[in-house]
Amino acid sequence: MNLSYWEKSSFLADADYVIVGAGIVGLFAAITLKKAQPSTRVVLLERSFLPSGASTKNAGFACFGSISELIEQEQACSKSEFLSVIQQRWQGLNLLISTLGAEQIAFEPCGGYELFTPEESELYQACIDKLNYYNDLLKEHIGATAPIFSIADQRIKEFGFKGIAHLIFNAYEGKIDAGKMMQALIAKARNLGVEIFFGAEVLDYQTQNNQVKISGKNFEINAKKILIATNAFAKQLIPNLSIVPGRGQVLITKPIQNIQFNSTFHYQKGYFYFRNIDNRILIGGGRNLFFEQEQSTEMRNTENILTSLKTLLFDKICPDQPIEIDYAWSGIMAFGDQLQPIIEKFAEGVYVAVRCNGMGIAMGSKTGESLAKLALAAN
Ligand SMILES: Cc1cc2nc3c(=O)[nH]c(=O)nc-3n(C[C@H](O)[C@H](O)[C@H](O)COP(=O)(O)OP(=O)(O)OC[C@H]3O[C@@H](n4cnc5c(N)ncnc54)[C@H](O)[C@@H]3O)c2cc1C
Repeated sequence: MNLSYWEKSSFLADADYVIVGAGIVGLFAAITLKKAQPSTRVVLLERSFLPSGASTKNAGFACFGSISELIEQEQACSKSEFLSVIQQRWQGLNLLISTLGAEQIAFEPCGGYELFTPEESELYQACIDKLNYYNDLLKEHIGATAPIFSIADQRIKEFGFKGIAHLIFNAYEGKIDAGKMMQALIAKARNLGVEIFFGAEVLDYQTQNNQVKISGKNFEINAKKILIATNAFAKQLIPNLSIVPGRGQVLITKPIQNIQFNSTFHYQKGYFYFRNIDNRILIGGGRNLFFEQEQSTEMRNTENILTSLKTLLFDKICPDQPIEIDYAWSGIMAFGDQLQPIIEKFAEGVYVAVRCNGMGIAMGSKTGESLAKLALAAN
């Protein structure tokens, strides 16, 4: 390892808490720990030169679900679990904004739309049937003072869409700049005294005598507690966790002269999504078309998904002007059979929080905070 005395006695000295993974969850956990116990040593280890999970690869929707997503999710769990998750998403967004500041993360409460094609008339009708129901049900959980969902078909022409029959508007959705959010989180954590090391992949850990011995590629560090926040990659450290990876692929266009909308959009139950950012369109999704293929932790793009994104973009979103694609990327999410994230004490001194089910902008802050509180409660 060729480590000097100085490296061992300063950078790699024993820590009170070691957090693994510098995504939104790990960073919020670090911030919460340092705020609660300023004099403790909190070390955050990130394997890559930048955070390289989902938190820097996402679409930046500040959302809690479109109507068709809500219908699907309500069917998959009890009503109390469903309402609790919606509330967590809403509170999580508010915690994110109040911790970092709306301006710092370029938060825009622009509202969001769900699109329906003529072929989706059944799905649309199911959503319309539930519109007033969700407006009433969710009102108090998100503190809404005006109707949450409303029909917005009149805007289809103004937005320049083709082959879209209906739009449902969600007045309580917004967008952020995910890059700015992550930079602000890192700055906040460092300001509080969290020590963040990039290029520090954790390979293993062992608990013994009330200590956790953490081994990385080229380092070792001891801590009183380890907090694992590596999301879709967590099975490397805890093999039996109930998580399934889901790759999200994204395209961004070259600058476009006249984008006719400033909002967020969902299509096919949220599996496709797009928005404007600067003077470009960011579009992603399509996992539903190739589910098995996309249950992968491999960060790469595939032709079949990119083709489906381009078809939506060229045929329906911007049919009347020449659009050029600039580049594509992918990121990995973690899903499971329950809507709630996993936040638990895994073993003595070992805590884990993962699986925001593709909604970590909304859920990540609260999930990280809860992880830290769990570790703090055990003192
Ligand atoms: C394409 C895409 C679009 C999305 N769009 C949205 C959206 O619009 N709105 C929304 O709410 N959510 C969205 N999400 C989901 C959201 O980004 C995630 O739920 C959230 O970022 C998860 O945060 P996390 O901290 O749990 O995990 P991550 O951000 O994945 O962080 C885990 C970190 O752990 C690191 N790591 C992994 N293994 C190790 C190791 N062994 N040692 C050290 N470090 C390690 C990784 O490099 C990574 O930085 C999207 C996700 C993707 C991929």
